[in-house]
Amino acid sequence: MLSNIKGQEQAIANLKQLISSEKVAQSYLFYGPSGVGKLTTAFQFAKAVNCQNQKDYDCCDNCSSCRKVDHFSHPDIDFIYPTPKFETSAEGGYKKETEQLQVQNFIEKLKSTPYSRFQFSKATSIQIDTIRNLERKIRFKPGEGKYRIIIIAEADEMTRSAANAFLKTLEEPPSYVIIILTTTKLSALLPTIISRCQKVRFNPIPPEIVEKHLIEKYQIEELQAKICARISNGSIAKAILMSQTEMFEARNMALDFVRFIVNKDFEGIHNFSDNFSHNRNEELLKDILDFLVLWFGDITYLHHSPERIVNIDQKEELERFYQIAKLTDKSIREIIDLIEKGKELIIGHINFELIVLDTFFQIYKRVYQNQKR
Ligand SMILES: [Zn+2]
Repeated sequence: MLSNIKGQEQAIANLKQLISSEKVAQSYLFYGPSGVGKLTTAFQFAKAVNCQNQKDYDCCDNCSSCRKVDHFSHPDIDFIYPTPKFETSAEGGYKKETEQLQVQNFIEKLKSTPYSRFQFSKATSIQIDTIRNLERKIRFKPGEGKYRIIIIAEADEMTRSAANAFLKTLEEPPSYVIIILTTTKLSALLPTIISRCQKVRFNPIPPEIVEKHLIEKYQIEELQAKICARISNGSIAKAILMSQTEMFEARNMALDFVRFIVNKDFEGIHNFSDNFSHNRNEELLKDILDFLVLWFGDITYLHHSPERIVNIDQKEELERFYQIAKLTDKSIREIIDLIEKGKELIIGHINFELIVLDTFFQIYKRVYQNQKR
């Protein structure tokens, strides 16, 4: 139901208002950061306009129309999303089984965790063939519902030619068609596409709501949910990803790293970096460095804006670090810069062990140099 979508009150109110006034526009553009519910809202809106028992301008979740949308099997709803360049047959199916399987996994993931983002194995786009297919389909009146609804996720991933072809579809869609585009990159869309759509803005979701969602829907433990919600910058998708155990492993390793600095523990840091001499886990190292950036960010917030602290379970450790290091805002910025540089080196596949050690000693130097002043 539209009413069940959390943290997007303004967008939902606008959409319900449109349904109530029977002034449903023909093309919408849902825009805003990733993982905040644009696509979920698009599907709930599609349910609401075609629902057989519409109530308070919302869907019922129970009628056959609503259920079909939930199962991605409603004949009047077309869902388009970027995929790698998969070969399709004339009937629209996928020629290769492995590719068919990836698309199935994508839909299954969307059904079970609507906010999450599925990664295809290769770079994705929306191809011109897909748009041409769409152009053909919209000539048919809806078979079951009042409207034929086209949902295009990440519309900014249309190729140039696809976008140009799509412009024609947007110019004069039949009156029974509703088109909903979603994007995180408004500026990557053709201005002519933007101007033809009614824009609906989606905002980052407040951390309290993300936290509650993680606890209620994913049974994440409270403290972990709180931290993930703070780190995620209002994106439920990111928070879900964070709440997975590997992310927590990275965070714990980042906290170890900080302890090595505080305790001047050279043996600790050598063992730690040694891990990376044979384990070239790029993602893990990147996540650790990300958490280190957050840690130093927290140090700057500690006394002037404690409500922004991400590592809220580590306030004592933060305070301890602050007392030892007495870093100025300027030197914290320098430290964050050099951690970011370390992250860039990972991409260039430099010796990971060296990146860890170098980052450690550079930070170490700044922390203890500062102390002498
Ligand atoms: Zn219904």
